[in-house]
Amino acid sequence: TWGKVCEELRQQIGDNNYKSWIEPLTLSGLENGVVSFRVPSQFHGDWVSRNYSDHIRAHLGTAGVTVHRVEFKHSARAVAAPKTAAPRGVKAAKARPAAEAEVPGAPLDSRFTFDSFVVGKPNELAHAAARRVAEGGPVSFNPLFLYGGVGLGKTHLMHAIAHELHVRQPHLRVLYLSAEQFMYRFVQALRERQIMDFKELFRSVDVLMVDDVQFIAGKDSTQEEFFHTFNALVDQNKQIVISADRAPGEIKDLEERIKSRLQCGLVVDLHPTDYELRLGILQQKAEFYRGQYPGLQLADGVVEFLAHRITTNVRVLEGALTRLFAFASLVGREITLDLTQDCLADILRASDRKVTIEEIQRKVAEHFNIRLADMIGPKRVRTIARPRQVAMYLAKQLTPRSLPEIGRRFGGRDHTTIMHGVRRIEELITTDSQLSDDLQLLRRLLQA
Ligand code: ADP
Ligand code: MG
Repeated sequence: TWGKVCEELRQQIGDNNYKSWIEPLTLSGLENGVVSFRVPSQFHGDWVSRNYSDHIRAHLGTAGVTVHRVEFKHSARAVAAPKTAAPRGVKAAKARPAAEAEVPGAPLDSRFTFDSFVVGKPNELAHAAARRVAEGGPVSFNPLFLYGGVGLGKTHLMHAIAHELHVRQPHLRVLYLSAEQFMYRFVQALRERQIMDFKELFRSVDVLMVDDVQFIAGKDSTQEEFFHTFNALVDQNKQIVISADRAPGEIKDLEERIKSRLQCGLVVDLHPTDYELRLGILQQKAEFYRGQYPGLQLADGVVEFLAHRITTNVRVLEGALTRLFAFASLVGREITLDLTQDCLADILRASDRKVTIEEIQRKVAEHFNIRLADMIGPKRVRTIARPRQVAMYLAKQLTPRSLPEIGRRFGGRDHTTIMHGVRRIEELITTDSQLSDDLQLLRRLLQA
């Protein structure tokens, strides 16, 4: 039976996945609806458990074997397990040391792989760069700096790199953690007087990945330590991957020398998603849920509708689909457009919210501490004209209004004046980091 199931699995998940993940499994038991396998490593077991245990269960089910649970046991562990009741000495001798490549990092999400990452225009560069790092060849750029807004796939790509390296080059010591965890570890090491261990650990890895590095901005001693770690690894030609929510130069309260170090390698941004990418991601997810909820009907046009309407981040998009499938399976109905609109009313309303020019003027005036009346008034002093231009710029960006329309709302200004204002701000943001911070904040306030 297992042989037949294997063949079906191979068909379903593809030759490569099958060879990497299923073939190394050894069937070790089948009792009371629990099927167990021996796996070559803890990591392997976790991976198969999260990605393929449903497949395994389903195929065994089709073959007439009812399975409630699938278990994976790492052989080293099985030896140490109390059930085997081995004498102490034997146990100690047999238990293998932890895999040498195991480094204590943050747990990786096994769903975040290259296979599950949908590539489109907005993220193709970031994806290509991540792939290159994951090949584990000679270091060609250092660091790789990935940045972009929330939910655009930075963490997903970093985990994918770690998974891929694990498979391709299991001997490499890959350490992934968030900047927050880096700080926490550092502070803990200071407190427990283990700073030498800390340094040694971080300087002994082959690949270091630090997620959300903007977190250490303003944290002086952590920055300092990060800087030294960074330099030590670069000197040894070890690969570093960093992510942040904005470009290095735009991270406030980050030391200049760190900024310039971060810019030394390859800096790539993940752009906001476009319709095609959202559609691709939704289709992939829907495919997955069809497997999870067999028999559930998904009407034509639902996926397209969601890709049109939910344009914020991918996490929201995924959450919407998850809820939709769960809801539909609960009430046992086909997923139609009507059902979608009912079930996701709140999410759709939130992403529907249109920003108005008036709102922009109000928020910008508040932010720069000028009177709302001055937004439309004639004053030309810089302290007023600049915020006004910022408002024009945001109006152009965040609303579908044309330049003449915007001009009318700014006290009947000519469309060329608006165009000039928009251009001015576009020029300034490339050099004025204060201004680009202001804009980022305002955009967030307006779109919240
Ligand atoms: P970030 O770290 O940039 O905030 P994440 O990597 O956590 O974003 O991504 C948020 C969610 O969206 C995750 O569940 C991730 O799998 C998913 N996601 C983002 N981009 C993609 C993509 N291109 N293809 C598939 N899933 C994606
Ligand atoms: Mg993240």
